[in-house]
Amino acid sequence: MRHTAPMAQRVVVVGAGVVGLTCAVRLLEAGHRVDVVARDLPLETTSAVAAAIWYPYRALPQTRVTAWSKTSYAAFAAVAADGPASGVRMAVGTEVLRAGQPDPWWAAAVPQLERTRDVPAGWTEGWRLTVPVVEMPVYLDWLARRVRDAGGTITRMNLGGLPEDGGTVVNCSGLGARLLGADRTVVPVRGQVVHVEQVGLDRWWLDSAGPTYVVPRSRDVVVGGTDVEGEWSRTPSAEAAADVLERAARLVPALAGARVLRHRVGLRPVRPAVRLERVGDVVHCYGHGGAGVTLSWGVADEVVGLVDR
Ligand SMILES: Cc1cc2nc3c(=O)[nH]c(=O)nc-3n(C[C@H](O)[C@H](O)[C@H](O)COP(=O)(O)OP(=O)(O)OC[C@H]3O[C@@H](n4cnc5c(N)ncnc54)[C@H](O)[C@@H]3O)c2cc1C
Repeated sequence: MRHTAPMAQRVVVVGAGVVGLTCAVRLLEAGHRVDVVARDLPLETTSAVAAAIWYPYRALPQTRVTAWSKTSYAAFAAVAADGPASGVRMAVGTEVLRAGQPDPWWAAAVPQLERTRDVPAGWTEGWRLTVPVVEMPVYLDWLARRVRDAGGTITRMNLGGLPEDGGTVVNCSGLGARLLGADRTVVPVRGQVVHVEQVGLDRWWLDSAGPTYVVPRSRDVVVGGTDVEGEWSRTPSAEAAADVLERAARLVPALAGARVLRHRVGLRPVRPAVRLERVGDVVHCYGHGGAGVTLSWGVADEVVGLVDR
């Protein structure tokens, strides 16, 4: 969806993760002048750690999340159709299930969701679907390039509060909203992943009960994960890594013995509900939990609408 700015404004976007950069892209497309400021530059953010597949995980409320996810799905599909430079591709994969379950609450967000019995030993069935798979370091670079090519800036700045210079501010500070939004309802949910060598995988796999996931990328495979609420440490745990690798090899036996390349930990900004609202000159957009990538284009469109209001 494209918006035409009723009046071009100067907008400061706080945060250079996937949410801030995507908002910046859409705001620039709408004709605004945009400066992104962030303590961590794109490749240093939580967003850079994401696996990342399109999947609405640990984000609420369901109705808005489904709508945002649907918009993002279409936007990512268009980006993927433009070629591999963005790091986005559409890939088929399977979410495995242990017992008969109803369709997921977000089913309306995807064009097709099919039940399958083609699942590994230990599971009875699954949902097979095609979703965007996003190689985050490549994608974040691509988004940052789009911001700069459209005339925006990205500057490192550690803020003690939101800017108050009379312009519009879009607060995409993720977990930083505990300070910048004075919002203690945003909490870290630690996620640890292991990057292993590519062993010829193309399809993704997910067992949300784990949470266990296997996301193949161009040169490696992201294997996850963990989900520890209230944990602030970003130091990888050897025990968690061993457990993740064992669970992943049960889901995808071809991974057994794959060479470990590196370990990564990120803190998901989880909130009882995503905050997306305008208060005075500030549009708050944070608390996307385990689905910031999945929601990014959908929330960005809504942010543009709130800035233009
Ligand atoms: C292991 C793991 C796997 C994941 N997998 C997926 C997945 O497959 N699919 C998916 O959709 N999501 C996934 N996620 C979730 C996703 O990573 C997050 O929802 C997303 O990164 C949130 O993006 P964000 O831009 O809001 O926050 P962030 O990426 O955290 O960016 C916040 C920005 O705000 C800035 N900031 C904060 N405080 C200040 C301050 N005081 N001054 C200036 N700047 C500040 C930061 O420096 C940063 O630039 C995963 C997360 C983890 C940890």
